[in-house]
Amino acid sequence: MKFIHNKKGYDLHLTGNPSQQVSPRETPEFVALVPDKIPFVKPRLKVKQGSRVQLGSVIFEDKRNPEFKFLSPGGGRVAEIVFGPRRVIQQVVVQLDRDEQHESFSSCTESQLDSMSRTSLVDAILKGGLWCLFREFPFGDIPRPEVQPPSIIVSLDSREPFQPDPAIYLADRVDLLAFGVKILRKLSDEVHVSLHQDNEAIAGQLKGVLTHRVSGPYPTGDAGVLLYRTKQHPHENKAWYISGQDLLLLAELIKTGKYPVERTVVLAGSLAHEKLHIRTRMGAPLKFISGETSQSPEHSRYIVGGIFRGYAAEKESFLDLYATSLTILPEGDKKELFGFARPGLKKPTRSRTFLSSLKTSPFEVDCGLHGEKRACINCGYCDDVCAVDILPQFALKSTLTGEVEESLAHGLLDCVNCGLCTFVCPSKIDICAILRQAKNEYYKEIS
Ligand code: SF4
Ligand code: SF4
Repeated sequence: MKFIHNKKGYDLHLTGNPSQQVSPRETPEFVALVPDKIPFVKPRLKVKQGSRVQLGSVIFEDKRNPEFKFLSPGGGRVAEIVFGPRRVIQQVVVQLDRDEQHESFSSCTESQLDSMSRTSLVDAILKGGLWCLFREFPFGDIPRPEVQPPSIIVSLDSREPFQPDPAIYLADRVDLLAFGVKILRKLSDEVHVSLHQDNEAIAGQLKGVLTHRVSGPYPTGDAGVLLYRTKQHPHENKAWYISGQDLLLLAELIKTGKYPVERTVVLAGSLAHEKLHIRTRMGAPLKFISGETSQSPEHSRYIVGGIFRGYAAEKESFLDLYATSLTILPEGDKKELFGFARPGLKKPTRSRTFLSSLKTSPFEVDCGLHGEKRACINCGYCDDVCAVDILPQFALKSTLTGEVEESLAHGLLDCVNCGLCTFVCPSKIDICAILRQAKNEYYKEIS
């Protein structure tokens, strides 16, 4: 076991934390696949509106690599295919049957897994539609199956506010996780499984599985930060990663031969009707997860995937393939009279701009910028919080001036898109989004 302490980062303490209570939800009427939120994939539809599908039927494949299949999270009828601008497929919605039928895939026991070849295992994961749960550094694309990665990193927890607690999603499923790790060991010689030091409750049950204990503020626990702290050779930059919950899905598929869809999702944020963990299914509707909100929807924002890394979503949309959290916050679109002259007791600040820096209790945040965008003032706050030592302000400037090589030299490819630089920037520059876009464009150029 290795212990790694990460000094840089930032923990934002907010009101609206989820309780440890787990609420199972009834089956929703509709579920959906959201291709729009799967990076780099170019979907080719395999169904039409009105088609009958089973749980696990192919809904679309990736045009770049047709082996990558994306399966239906439910059995029933394709009720709607939503296209966006330039006919980008945004959602494929399935209305569930009362008596859902499901596809069957090959399964194996632990001893069969031991003697299984890598090729057969890869084939089983590809056909079972879960290869897309693997992502490859540094760009986050789905990796090519024939490549053996230098290592696979499993991150069991994240310090980002309002994410599922591993003690909850792993309850009674530790054996399944161990089975999942065994699968990964057939795919790569090096498998790293990390857990934050704060999660002592579940650590005792994970002996023999955990390889790293990490400590420090957000984004400690992130697979990219672990890679940055542990890598010794450039070839390790091509490691793969998968989240703890996704590894459970993978293990279940191989063990049972059935496409797994159970998700533990956190519903949180100051405007969430309830703040708790919810056992639901992949692709569930957001309004089904959220229940009622205490304010009218036009003044609340639905954030899928985390407040630093997620995105604002329509209330009528669905959980994407990777999402495990829904946060509801006030929009923050109301004008504040003489806001510039107020001491800011209720506004979080890392730069000690407001009197609130003296406060230790959690904040109720909204989504307002509370200021105008302006030029970089070289304050260095973004550098202070960057866990992978990028010097974001310099990477940003070289990116904006089109100096890609310089941006790469500053460590653009190490950026883990944690969003902290954007959060702390007093000039309100969305540094993270600019760097992410630069990284994606560079990837498209070289691939
Ligand atoms: S540059 Fe990337 S890793 Fe560093 S703080 Fe910004 S988003 Fe996070
Ligand atoms: S935090 Fe914003 S203003 Fe400060 S150095 Fe970074 S980019 Fe510039």
